[in-house]
Amino acid sequence: MCMTAYDVIVVGGGPAGLGFARALAGSGLRLAVVERSPRAALADPADDGREIALTHHSVATLRKLGAWDALHADEIAPLRAAHVFNGGSPFALSFDTAGSKAGAGPLGTMVPNHAIRRALFAATEGQDGLDLMTGVGVTGARANRAGASVTLDDGRVLTARLLVAADSRFSAIRDQLGIAARINRIGKSMMVCRVMHEADHDGIATEWFDHGQTIAMLPLSGRRSSAVLTLPCAEIDRLAALDADALGAELTRRFSGRLGAMRVLDRAHVYPLATTWSHHFAADGAALIGDAAVGMHPVTAHGFNLGLAGATRLADLIAAAAAKRRDIASPLLLRRYETAHRLQCRPLYDATAMIVGLYTAESPAARAARHVTLRAAARLPFLRQSVSRLLMQS
Ligand SMILES: Cc1cc2nc3c(=O)[nH]c(=O)nc-3n(C[C@H](O)[C@H](O)[C@H](O)COP(=O)(O)OP(=O)(O)OC[C@H]3O[C@@H](n4cnc5c(N)ncnc54)[C@H](O)[C@@H]3O)c2cc1C
Repeated sequence: MCMTAYDVIVVGGGPAGLGFARALAGSGLRLAVVERSPRAALADPADDGREIALTHHSVATLRKLGAWDALHADEIAPLRAAHVFNGGSPFALSFDTAGSKAGAGPLGTMVPNHAIRRALFAATEGQDGLDLMTGVGVTGARANRAGASVTLDDGRVLTARLLVAADSRFSAIRDQLGIAARINRIGKSMMVCRVMHEADHDGIATEWFDHGQTIAMLPLSGRRSSAVLTLPCAEIDRLAALDADALGAELTRRFSGRLGAMRVLDRAHVYPLATTWSHHFAADGAALIGDAAVGMHPVTAHGFNLGLAGATRLADLIAAAAAKRRDIASPLLLRRYETAHRLQCRPLYDATAMIVGLYTAESPAARAARHVTLRAAARLPFLRQSVSRLLMQS
C-alpha cells in the first residue's frame, strides 16, 4: 500500500524529476514522484525526435546516477565541433575544444531524449524509499513553511515536508504556488527529424541562420543527422505533413546540398517554441526544477543540461541536510538552491535570447550586425574558447 506522508513529493517524472529522485538515493528520505503518463510510457518512452547535446558535466552526472550504462552504444554520438553560418556567406564561426583542457576531445555528446528518459527510469525504478506513482496527475498543490500537500486526480491527498515541481515549462504547480513567470511565445515552431545523407558530417554540428529560416544539422552515428528546422508555425505544419520523399527533397534544398541528398528516416516532430523564466525558483516549502524553473530556447541546447544541474544541486543540499538531521525545507536551504541556480541559468538564458533576437531578425541592419559579430568573434580566440567551455560545462 502507498504511504501518504513523505519527506519530498516531486510532481513530474521527466528527466528533471527522475534525475532529482535518483540523486536522493541512499539519503534515507521517503520520496513520491507523481507522473501523469502511464508506467509503460516511462519504462519505454516513445521517440520524440529530440536529440540532446549533453555537456561533459551532464554525462558525468548521468554516470553518477547510474543511468549512463543503460544507454545503447548506437544511441551515443560524439559532437566534435559546431560551425555557425550566417545568411549566404560561406564564412563559418567554429567552436571546438582546441586550446581547452579537454584537448582534442569532443565538445559534447549527442543522445536521443527518449533514451535518456528510459535510462533514468531504469536507474530509478525500485529505489528504496521511493514511490513512483504513474498514470495519475496532480490537480492541486499547496505549500508553506509548515509543509506541503498535493491532491491527485483520483482523490488521494499526499503530504510532505517539501514539494518539488518538475512539471514542465508550463508548470501548473508553479501557478498554484503563486510563482509568476515570464512566458515568451515565439510564434515559430521547430521541426526535428532524423535524416540519412550522402556526405560525412565528421561529427560537426552546423547551425545556419539563413535568411527566413534557421536550420541545424546535429551529427548522429554513421551518415545520419538530426535535421532541426525553425520557421513560422504554419510553414512548419505544412512541411511536417509532406511525405518522406518530398520532405527529404525539401531539407536537401534548404540545406543547399551541403551534406548531399537527404533521406528522411522517421516521422517529423513539431515543437511550437516558447521560453519561460520563473520569477522565483523556490517558495516556502517548495522548489521548482527543470523546465518548470527555466524553459530555454533549444537553439543553444541547454534546457536538459541546466535542468539536470539544478535537480542534482537541490538534491545534494537536501541530502546533506538530512544527513545532519536538519530541516530539508529550511528557507536558508531553499534560498541557497535558488540563488546558485539562478546565477547559473541567467547568463545562458539572456545570451540565448540575444542570439535568437540577433540571428532571426531580417532587417538589413540586423543582417549586417550578425555578419560583423561572427567575423569579430572569429578574431577573438579567447571568446570562442569561452563559448566552447560554456557549451561543454553547464
Ligand atoms: C526540439 C528540442 C530540442 C532540445 N534539445 C536540447 C539539447 O540539445 N540540450 C538540452 O540540454 N536540452 C534540449 N532541449 C530541452 C529539454 O528537452 C528539456 O529541457 C527537458 O526535457 C525538460 O525536462 P523536464 O523534466 O523539466 O520537463 P518535461 O520533460 O517536460 O517533463 C515534465 C513531466 O511532468 C509531467 N507532468 C506535468 N504536469 C503534471 C501533473 N500535474 N501531474 C503529474 N505529472 C505531470 C509530464 O507528463 C512530464 O512527464 C530540447 C527541447 C526541444 C523541444
